[in-house]
Amino acid sequence: MTTDAAKSRRLHFIIVGGSLGGLATGLALKAIGHDTTILERNRTPVLEQQGAGIVAGGDTLAFFKRYNRCDRPIAVTSHRRQYLDKAGKVVHKEDMDQNMTSWDLAYFIMRANYDQVKSEHCEPPAPVPSHGKAVHWHDHNVTDIKQEGENVRVYYKTGTGQEGSITGDMVIGADGPSSTVRALVEPEVKRTYAGYCALRGTIPENDVSPATREAFSERFTFFHGPGVQILAYLIPGESGTVEPGKRLINFVYYTNFPEGSPELEEIMTDKHGKRRPITMPPGMIDMQAWEKQRQIAAERLPPQFAEIVRGTQKPFVQAVTDVISPRNEYMDGKLVLIGDALAGFRPHTVASTSQAAFDAMVFADHIEGKVSKEQWKKETMGFARFIQKRGVEMGIHSQHQDLPVEEHIQDRNIASTPREQEVYPEWATAI
Ligand SMILES: Cc1cc2nc3c(=O)[nH]c(=O)nc-3n(C[C@H](O)[C@H](O)[C@H](O)COP(=O)(O)OP(=O)(O)OC[C@H]3O[C@@H](n4cnc5c(N)ncnc54)[C@H](O)[C@@H]3O)c2cc1C
Repeated sequence: MTTDAAKSRRLHFIIVGGSLGGLATGLALKAIGHDTTILERNRTPVLEQQGAGIVAGGDTLAFFKRYNRCDRPIAVTSHRRQYLDKAGKVVHKEDMDQNMTSWDLAYFIMRANYDQVKSEHCEPPAPVPSHGKAVHWHDHNVTDIKQEGENVRVYYKTGTGQEGSITGDMVIGADGPSSTVRALVEPEVKRTYAGYCALRGTIPENDVSPATREAFSERFTFFHGPGVQILAYLIPGESGTVEPGKRLINFVYYTNFPEGSPELEEIMTDKHGKRRPITMPPGMIDMQAWEKQRQIAAERLPPQFAEIVRGTQKPFVQAVTDVISPRNEYMDGKLVLIGDALAGFRPHTVASTSQAAFDAMVFADHIEGKVSKEQWKKETMGFARFIQKRGVEMGIHSQHQDLPVEEHIQDRNIASTPREQEVYPEWATAI
């Protein structure tokens, strides 16, 4: 598709995946007058209550500024980054404002803006006549994609076994780190386990002791130990409220579970005995396995962190993985990968949602003719390759090397570089 053609006619984009990356792309394309259909495999009309906190980086905030028309706060601001020692004493602090949101809030704001979904999180804004048509189909699991002359045909299957297909001008693979779309065009690319998991959860800010509340109140707080890293920050509470007293403390606790070890099998086997490959969703963890982790937390974490880990009611687990596609464009430019489908970052980079937001914005700018194809590709591939590599290095430092805290502080400060100020090496932007 040339951008001249895109400028002169209304296109239909089929987006595979209706999480933040797919919604971001749908919103950005809709705003410039193109039609979009999102196919999401999830069986229910909305995805909810599976996520927790998200650090809203520069591109995420820029995205909301550009496309969000819901009148409500989108984040809780943390004013300081600080590091604790094992005894719970602050050993390093620096003033820095960072915005923390929740996955649910980001999702419902995007749905309100994309296809007018009403929720307790926000009231949908009035439709804009110049916008393209925005369609969302849940329970549509995409299985195949074929080029048909100037069009693409996307095949899907529903939960009841019904099969069908839909055609469009272009298809966007926004189907996450285990992307089916990517597997169709890059079957050799594999998602690999990094040797550690993130144990995650939240706890209401008022349900903890005053010392613990103090440690996390509008502060982004960390602890590093051998093979262990934990961080926590405040996020919006129920229905996205940012009212003090009603927010949640969100933690991410990285701990090593070697591949093939009994510990990994134990933590990833759910309460019904089913081995979960990558994510153990909230409410599904085996409570005996969790009890073991609660005890370990008491032994090796500072008291404030031990209290929130031990106090969370619905822990969930995410195996940390690596994946990156060598390219983002296929089928003569008719198939594009974005977000986690293009590159799944380690969470230490705090860049996954920003990548999805950036990929969506720069792609829409390219379709609109504001950004050349070369520039679009260099910027998205540069970001994907450079940050993916950085994440792997941060993970190795944190989980497999016993480094002084200064090294982790430095890693984290580098990871906070605004994207516009990053200087990508040549290997990252080669297209
Ligand atoms: C339910 C959920 C909760 C999350 N919670 C958090 C969180 O709390 N904190 C955080 O930092 N990140 C979270 N993430 C990850 C975060 O959304 C992403 O890292 C980032 O925003 C980029 O998202 P993405 O849309 O590219 O990929 P993903 O968020 O992985 O979304 C991919 C989507 O594609 C769908 N899909 C996959 N295969 C198919 C197929 N064949 N056909 C149709 N649909 C398909 C999936 O169901 C999913 O909804 C969560 C992701 C999900 C899906």
